[in-house]
This record gives sequence, structure tokens and C-alpha cells, in this order.
Amino acid sequence: MKDKQASLRLEEMTFPEVLQAMEADLPIILPVGSIEQHGPHLPLGVDAYTVQDVARRVGALYPAVVAPPLFYGGFSRPRTGGGRQFPGSTGLPDRTLELVTKNILEDWFRQGFRTAVALNGHYENYAPLLSGIELATEPHLETHKALLLNWWAPLTHEETVALFGDAVEDPDTEHASIVETSVMEAIAPQLVRSQFKTDGRAQRKVSYEIFPPPADIIWKHGIGSTAVGSSPEAGEKYLQLAAERIAGILVFEFGAPSSSRGHDG
Ligand SMILES: [Zn+2]
Repeated sequence: MKDKQASLRLEEMTFPEVLQAMEADLPIILPVGSIEQHGPHLPLGVDAYTVQDVARRVGALYPAVVAPPLFYGGFSRPRTGGGRQFPGSTGLPDRTLELVTKNILEDWFRQGFRTAVALNGHYENYAPLLSGIELATEPHLETHKALLLNWWAPLTHEETVALFGDAVEDPDTEHASIVETSVMEAIAPQLVRSQFKTDGRAQRKVSYEIFPPPADIIWKHGIGSTAVGSSPEAGEKYLQLAAERIAGILVFEFGAPSSSRGHDG
């Protein structure tokens, strides 16, 4: 936990500190989550809490400024997040998220950041984030670089199974299931209603979208597969491994942090 404190957090910094970070050419990380149902046992903010935690871990391994997460993400969809009919699930249309992403990156680029990472925690955000980043970097192709990745993407399904066991199913239906539950048990156990961990799944699994979504394709309890068998220890290892992989990606894409980029915090 001490290491996590070492990351530079935009909302806690002063403007001269941010100036210093830009002069040291540090990247800035934008964690993007959602307000979306995650079963009867997990809070709506899972994706934002998770991606903020991963971003802070990355910032402790590679000098970077970690911006506060966007809690509002794209619409929840039936096959990837349960859908918008769940009470509390609150999403933005793709064009809004694209514009928000573009506007935020434009501000950072205008002020002097030259590298940025959108770290995504909510499957449905990916396409609008991609458009927003593409549009924001377009005027700076020679001088700026931005990355987009889902925080779990650098880990393979085999690595996930090795940590959590065979009960981990298809990554498509991991929603509110073993991995997300374990990760939340590691980050904020006080927010997990353990007594409601259960099996979910849909009666009918389809490979296409249907609107309006019929009841038999909606996950029972909003859980993609099952939350039974989660483990905070495995969640902690998974978060740390993801952060190490992402820090490795930053080294590869942005270069090894030099002493001039040093962060002494
Ligand atoms: Zn989630």
C-alpha cells in the first residue's frame, strides 16, 4: 500500500507541481470506469474503483501523473454489462464519451503533456475512447503519443485461470463474476456484500445484440457467470500483475524513465 501512495495524483497536485511533471515529460493516465450494476454484491462503481487502483499501481512503477477517474462511462449493454434497465446503471451515449475524452486530452496536450494513457475499466467504453483519442492526437502526430487499453488486456485467459481456477469462464461473461469480485475484495472489501455472492448467467446465450433485449438473454442477478469462489488474495495478485504489465508497456512505448523524468515523491 505504501507504494500506491507514491503515485502522483492530479487532483492532489498544485499547478507548479503539474508544470514540473510536464517539464519532466511524464505521461498522464486517465482511468475510465462506469456507473453500472455489478450484481447484488458489488457497488455500481466497480469499474472506476478498479481502474483507479490499477492506475495508481502503474504510477508507482512508472513515473506518471494519475488523473481522477471518469466514473460515468458508456451505456451498459445486455451482453457485456447487463443493460440499462438495472436500477442505477447510468451511462453516456458513445458520442458524449468520445467528446469528453477528446476535450480532456486536448486540454492536457495544450498545456504541455505529450503522452497520455486512457486506462479503461468498462468494456463498452472502448470504441468511443478510441475515437476521442484518435481525434485529440490527430493535430500532433509528430510530437504526441497516446495509448488506450483495457486494464485486464495484458493478461491472458490462461494466466487468469492459473490465478482464479477453472471456475473462471469466458472473459465475455466475467462481469460481476470471480475476477471482478476478487479484485473488489482486494481493493475495498467493505463495499462487497459477501452474503449476496451467487451464480448468475443468462438462460440463453446469444452471439449478437437484440433491442429491446428479451428477458432470457439478461444475466440472472446481473452476474455474467458466477461470483462464487472469489478470492481477495488472487484479486491482489491479479491487480499487481496487470499493473506490472502495463508499466512494461509504458517502458516500451514511452521509453524507460530516466533520472530527468525522476519522481521523488
Ligand atoms: Zn465491471
